[in-house]
Amino acid sequence: MGAADNNPRKKGHSSTSKAHISKQPMTWSNWYKHINWLNCTFILFVPIGGCILACWTPLRLYTAIFAVVYYFNAGLGITAGYHRYWAHRCYKATLPLSIYLAAAGVSAGQGSIRWWSKGHRSHHRYTDTDKDPYSVKKGFWYSHIGWMVLHQDHKRIGRADVSDLDEDPVVRWQHKHYIKSAIFMTLIFPTVLCGLGWGDWKGGFIYGGILRVFFIQQATFCVNSLAHFIGEQPFDDRNSPRDHVITALVTLGEGYHNFHHEFPSDYRNAIEWWQYDPTKWMIWLWKQLGLAYDLKQFRANEIEKGRVQQMQKKVDTMRSKIDWGIPLEQLPVIEWDEFVEASKTRALIAIGGVVHDVTAFVKEHPGGKAFIASGIGKDATAMFNGGVYRHSNAAHNLLASMRVGIVRGGCEVEIWKGVGRVEGKTGVETLAAGGQVTRRAPMVKVDEAQP
Ligand SMILES: [Zn+2]
Ligand SMILES: [Zn+2]
Repeated sequence: MGAADNNPRKKGHSSTSKAHISKQPMTWSNWYKHINWLNCTFILFVPIGGCILACWTPLRLYTAIFAVVYYFNAGLGITAGYHRYWAHRCYKATLPLSIYLAAAGVSAGQGSIRWWSKGHRSHHRYTDTDKDPYSVKKGFWYSHIGWMVLHQDHKRIGRADVSDLDEDPVVRWQHKHYIKSAIFMTLIFPTVLCGLGWGDWKGGFIYGGILRVFFIQQATFCVNSLAHFIGEQPFDDRNSPRDHVITALVTLGEGYHNFHHEFPSDYRNAIEWWQYDPTKWMIWLWKQLGLAYDLKQFRANEIEKGRVQQMQKKVDTMRSKIDWGIPLEQLPVIEWDEFVEASKTRALIAIGGVVHDVTAFVKEHPGGKAFIASGIGKDATAMFNGGVYRHSNAAHNLLASMRVGIVRGGCEVEIWKGVGRVEGKTGVETLAAGGQVTRRAPMVKVDEAQP
């Protein structure tokens, strides 16, 4: 929990007496001051009470169907409404759709649009930092629920601009009348509907109200925890957001969170047609019905840029762990005569202007000892590149591990500029497949007998 504040803002004050409770260590004597009892009541105690009461409340079929349908509406209110419409402005909604989303969102019991979107914009702006209201860097449970059940120092949370929301009459009305509308939409409406509809007042209250809210709350909290915890990072791995189908299944498609943090104003979270994103499907459907318009979408080219850069970063890391042979720049430059002289005591072969010590390899040469021995003390470029046998890419790579020098006056200048050289971000230079400096176009055509 909160670590002691070693850097009190005001000089002269003792850190513990004036510091916000969240910055004081939790002890046996102050733990209850850390707890946000109001939030605890709504997201823990009431749901626990609902689970206990459910043991004595039979679940009727109509009530179950209603609870599931209402659950999905509340979920869409959060994902398509609070999140993609208000927090990120991914599309524009007509007034009827806006009112529906505000009402459905209230029924999920997650605060007003204004409060929710402000926190979410801070989360995007300050992801993984101390200013992130639900930073996963403080632990899975902190990002899931801890940030709500423990008191937070509001001065810590990063600033986010919500002036556009303050101009939205639906947002203003919902914020002003939040408590009343939340009590009505979360509990009274499901109770009365199930009661008047098929006489199940208690079931409507427990299943359509309390437990439905509990499940939708936990599902939404997963976007802050699970979506920053499990899965792949195809677009950027510098921050915690991740893509995972399980998170998507739980959150009506919000699980492609690595994409979402990179392209937050895109109305989609899943960009592939086969990925599960019912929120995207609904927004698209509303567009067909004339309820939504101006759906924002990043160009595929921009998205692919990020994906390729991230793939490149992974490849750079992999190749930095591989020994590609001594870089040409670090090899000693020797005269041709020195090379010939030295090859009398060591098995040296020049290929493409690069000298290789094959002493230990002669016996292991897959093509036999005789062929390799015939190249010792000579320029075997043509022989290696097809004159005798056109060696594989792997053979060129293996050869590079034996290089010991460069022959002066050879064609090394051109070689050093050779095609296929790639400078990785890690500073480790390597070669694309087939790009070793020793590789030459075959000088003699082999195995091409005329019919
Ligand atoms: Zn996030
Ligand atoms: Zn977001």
